[in-house]
Amino acid sequence: MTGTTDATADRTIHFVSLGCPKNRVDTEVMLGVAGRAGYRHVEDPARAHVIVVNTCGFIDAAKQESIEVILELSEYKQRGQCDKLVVAGCLSQRYPDELAAELPEVDHVLGSSDMPKLERVLAGGAERVLVGNPADWVMGANDPRRLSTRGRSAYVKIAEGCNRRCAFCVIPQIRGLQRSRSVDDVVREVEALAAAGVLEINLVSQDTLAYGRDRDDGARLPDLVRRVAEVPGIYWVRLFYLYPERLDDALIELLDAHPRVVPYVDMPLQHAADAMLRRMRRGHGGKRLYDLVERLKARVRGLVMRSAFIVGHPGETDAEFEQLLAFVRFAELDNVGVFRYSDEPTAASHALDAKVPARTAQARARKLMAVQRPISREKNRARIGTELEVLVEGPSPDEELVFVGRHAGQAPEVDGQVYLSGGEVLPGEIRKVRITQAADYDLVGEVDEDGPSEPPRPSLPIEKKRDGRKALRVLPVAR
Ligand code: SF4
Repeated sequence: MTGTTDATADRTIHFVSLGCPKNRVDTEVMLGVAGRAGYRHVEDPARAHVIVVNTCGFIDAAKQESIEVILELSEYKQRGQCDKLVVAGCLSQRYPDELAAELPEVDHVLGSSDMPKLERVLAGGAERVLVGNPADWVMGANDPRRLSTRGRSAYVKIAEGCNRRCAFCVIPQIRGLQRSRSVDDVVREVEALAAAGVLEINLVSQDTLAYGRDRDDGARLPDLVRRVAEVPGIYWVRLFYLYPERLDDALIELLDAHPRVVPYVDMPLQHAADAMLRRMRRGHGGKRLYDLVERLKARVRGLVMRSAFIVGHPGETDAEFEQLLAFVRFAELDNVGVFRYSDEPTAASHALDAKVPARTAQARARKLMAVQRPISREKNRARIGTELEVLVEGPSPDEELVFVGRHAGQAPEVDGQVYLSGGEVLPGEIRKVRITQAADYDLVGEVDEDGPSEPPRPSLPIEKKRDGRKALRVLPVAR
């Protein structure tokens, strides 16, 4: 077996990134760290000397998935050439000792803020458990990073951690209190991404509207968004994880009128019944949500809105669930994700009585999606006959010889996509597309022969060389 610490060895590494886009950014930092240490990413785990699993661990299903992936990949220590299996991320931040004790096949355990420590692991001789304080690190423009996303699109993490105390959520325990990056640091990273050919920036954090409040330099979200949108070369800026609080006028103005800020609002609302929101410790009632949706629809032209809800939270009655359905019918959101409550032992909601049986939660999740599906379908159908700008992502992963892309109202990975017909396209181009068909989530459209909306610019090496793309296995996020 080839040792990775041997300077003459072929250094290959394979990554699996589970969970949310914030985890994906951390994985990309580890890709950068590995690249700097002379490691080459390989898509086939059987050819990797080092395998890294960046885990998710905030609900039961995610923990289960993480463990299954770790066990599956540990087999390459026998049937491949892997001699180091590294586990990082939220699961190991939460359960470092348990993982180390229960999984002897794991060589190193890193937490959710220990990405730079991969360098020590790769150099050899590092301790087995390297889980630190999550508050110690938030990525910055100087961290090495290699993109793994398709179609000249990148996530940019503007803050880490969360100061809220939602009853069902263990994220603040895993990721610590909020630490926002400075505006200048974020802009520096975006400038580097734009210079490398990135067109679309997706701003992510745990609580994006709270950006800057932990800093004393006056950094605020509208200013950050404007600065990012004005970086030469950036075509679309999209915001994720907006908490349902009063949006300030400056941000609404940007969403409505800035040509580079897409009118897309991703706002996980979780529930809409007053009593449920109280139990969830959300700090507001249902009326705020009705008002917010009305205000956004009135003020943001072309608004596309995505949300996520939790069903089966302790105490949720049939009547409260019906109130949630009534809100979903009222709000007519473009896209909705629904999660069944997961009873995490360290979450405040764990202590609540009146647990909802799993079967009831499952039935409620199905019912909610049955209410939402025709709404999404109608919204998609209304696009038939319109011409939209589409960012070409590349070949469809599930249909041979078909390219896919996304219009500004479709976020990567969580929303639908546009299947492209009738024209030659290249990954990373922005093309005008006439929409001809619509399904519940996806669209089909004909490419305008007039060529790209934007002149071609120097592209990322990863765009030119398909081989060079860091093909991570990424857990699809539930719709
Ligand atoms: S705002 Fe989001 S990340 Fe923060 S505690 Fe609530 S659900 Fe968790």
